Amino acid sequence: MVHHEAPTPPPTLSIHAAPTTAGHVHALPSSWSVPTVAAPVHRHFDAALPDEWAPLFTRCFEDVRAILGGTFECHVVAVHTHRWPAGSSARAALDSVAPLLSGGTQLQVGDYCTFQAAPRARILVLQYDTICPAHRRSVIAHEYLHVHQMSLLRELALGPAHDTLPMWLMEGTAALFEHLYINEFWSGLHRDGLEAALRFAHAEATAGRLAFGRRKETYEDVSMNYFVEVCAVCYLAHVCALWTRVEVLITTLWSRIYEAQGEWRGAFDSLFGRSPDTFYDDFNRFTASTTLEQMRRILPHAPVLGYCCPDTSRAEPFLRRLAYGGERTESPGRVRVHLGRCGPERVGVTLTVGRSMVAN
Ligand SMILES: [Zn+2]
Repeated sequence: MVHHEAPTPPPTLSIHAAPTTAGHVHALPSSWSVPTVAAPVHRHFDAALPDEWAPLFTRCFEDVRAILGGTFECHVVAVHTHRWPAGSSARAALDSVAPLLSGGTQLQVGDYCTFQAAPRARILVLQYDTICPAHRRSVIAHEYLHVHQMSLLRELALGPAHDTLPMWLMEGTAALFEHLYINEFWSGLHRDGLEAALRFAHAEATAGRLAFGRRKETYEDVSMNYFVEVCAVCYLAHVCALWTRVEVLITTLWSRIYEAQGEWRGAFDSLFGRSPDTFYDDFNRFTASTTLEQMRRILPHAPVLGYCCPDTSRAEPFLRRLAYGGERTESPGRVRVHLGRCGPERVGVTLTVGRSMVAN
């Protein structure tokens, strides 16, 4: 999925997947949409990536697996360049997944990420992000959530069928996931994407530029904006009391859309008790008549990622880390650590604090 950050789009390397053989959808194995705790992650990393990339990726991926209770086997291509054509090391990483692609299909230039569900493999292409430490992490969570969504959507995520999926829900939930991940796991990086999104949406509404409607359902929408889309999803979570059952947005929604054979409006209506059009009208009324302070009420007021999957499907006790994480901060002398957890199991905790903080 293309990934932008509003309001200023970052410099990007763009990699899009060409569709699989047009109009032809391969049957997927029955296990395709079943996440597992020990799903293999096949790495195809650009040799030019900084040394910190691999441990950073490992840490973020382990976090995501803990949050979701399991992951899907996938191939991850990571390249380190903002320029295209890529250097030889990036090209080598991309070429290493070529045998997995359908005949004649090539990974092409796009933004940040592509996810291709070939009949035999899921391929996630990540660009090493140099915008800021928080975004370097959040983009991994965001893009992996697309793998999660599209694995649950099975054949609906392949080829032309993908274009009928609701863009604002796909991107809004992925953006929500990435911002929650940073807020709850890397709060020491001081970057609250949800607050930023709220401020942006409020400013747009105040200026009379925010009109949410059916055009948000397509990836061709020229007004596509991650901040606006994530605000709409936060509003949905708020009015439907989903913050303590975020699993509905992260997993149930996509399973229901698949069960409804892509008729996502019906799935939306049955899950949320209102039609998409009614929701758009409500959201527009809310943003048009609400102060920034009032808008903040739609955000979660406590960590919620622990509700992304039921405890019963989580293989290991879930330890939520709200801690400093990696790069030097503006106030290196202060470290705030908060540990929370879900589930009844006992867990052991080791906290190590040193002068040189380089751990991921
Ligand atoms: Zn995305």
